[in-house]
Amino acid sequence: MTNHTQVLNPATEEVLATVALADVEQTDRHIETAAAAFQTWRRVDPADRARLLRRFATAVDTDPEHLAQLEVRNAGHAIGNARWEAGNVRDVLHYYAGAPERHLGQQIPVAGGVAMTFHEPLGVIGVIVPWNFPMPIAGWAIGPALAAGNTVVLKPAELTPLTALRLAELALQAGIPEGVLQVVPGKGSVVGERFVTHPTVRKVVFTGSTEVGRRVMRGCADQVKRLTLELGGKNASIVFADADLDEAAAATPAGAFDNAGQDCCARSRVLVQRSVLERYLELLEPVVRDVTVGDPGHEATAMGPLISAAHRDGVAAYVEGAEVAFRGSAPEGAGFWFAPTVLHARGADDRAFREEIFGPVLSVLTFEDEDEAVRIADGTAYGLSGSIWTRDVGRALRVARGVEAGNLSVNSHASVRYSTPFGGFRQSGLGRELGPDALQSFSELKTVFVATG
Ligand code: NAD
Repeated sequence: MTNHTQVLNPATEEVLATVALADVEQTDRHIETAAAAFQTWRRVDPADRARLLRRFATAVDTDPEHLAQLEVRNAGHAIGNARWEAGNVRDVLHYYAGAPERHLGQQIPVAGGVAMTFHEPLGVIGVIVPWNFPMPIAGWAIGPALAAGNTVVLKPAELTPLTALRLAELALQAGIPEGVLQVVPGKGSVVGERFVTHPTVRKVVFTGSTEVGRRVMRGCADQVKRLTLELGGKNASIVFADADLDEAAAATPAGAFDNAGQDCCARSRVLVQRSVLERYLELLEPVVRDVTVGDPGHEATAMGPLISAAHRDGVAAYVEGAEVAFRGSAPEGAGFWFAPTVLHARGADDRAFREEIFGPVLSVLTFEDEDEAVRIADGTAYGLSGSIWTRDVGRALRVARGVEAGNLSVNSHASVRYSTPFGGFRQSGLGRELGPDALQSFSELKTVFVATG
């Protein structure tokens, strides 16, 4: 039986759309359709697969404003961010359109014949997407998975299915054959679980919380199913006394509050060398108060609302009883608003300093020297990203090599580029997405030996 869900605009709490949620039988039919489409798609010549992916990229590029506006309304993303996100899907598709014809094997010298390797596609890939970046996270899996010759069933988050549904329409318009990319809205406990348990799904790409990721991993173990996990983060920005403090402070709100802090790469902890704490906070306060929080459709808006009332309550619970340094502002009335907030951490064990809040809440703590900075940065279960602010190149590299995280930036908060690998150490994930090697995790390596007599 089909259920429905009402999709809300988090800035107004108005109902935007009603979307049908698939049950287990419907999910199974989508998986069977994907398995049938795989038999044709895997045989499409590499150059033709490349051409179709390029056409898909072009189709996305004819619709960027519509996609961006959908994300503004469905996820509350600031319009400037949402345009970037639609552009990121286009760019990822263009980048991986170059891959089918470059997915090279090796010829390895052996006795008695010729040994060579082939990259074989896996089959049906189940992609499970969270609500925080519905478009880019879908694109990061779709691009390399299709380029490698797989077919995809994709489950968007219950709260944010609209852009994924539009991307599937654009794929069909671009000539990607029926069944190669299907979007299946539904509950995690129904559709997501079925991707894990259905034997025809040969790999799961899961992006979401570490808690659900562990459960998905346990389920995949039953079938030794391939798995990529992109999980939570509690990322540290380390500010040394020799840094350009104006620049470090000016960049802090974007690093911590972008997408209202609902970003696995958010720099939600700032570690400041003790001697410059006072100066850094003096510089930070006005830029935090200046963050424009409001209607995400306005060009000047930097930060929109949180995704839901329940999530806002969870974020607020971290601030209750905490030592607030200063806050920005947020609208009142309808919408799930939360003002940017800076906390003084009482210590590295402070709950708000250790746990992923996934909202616009930043905790500040001091350190004495490099060793202590690295120790504090590594003091959580996570290891996704982080930043180092210093003018000393040697220190920048020492600390970047020292921190256990997958994506580190020096004098910058940028973590994501489609052309570089992305993923987490420790409980932030398993495997990598994006970059030149992404197709390796969407294919199996096969060795063939031919005896030459
Ligand atoms: P979530 O784990 O609650 O849900 C993620 C997805 O999993 C949703 O589509 C959900 O329906 C589905 N799901 C839920 N239960 C499931 C189950 N039992 N089996 C299979 N699928 C199931 O996460 P969320 O609240 O949507 O997203 C926020 C989290 O995502 C944060 O922890 C954030 O750090 C993380 N995240 C990580 C990255 C990364 O690249 N590392 C990127 C974005 C978000």
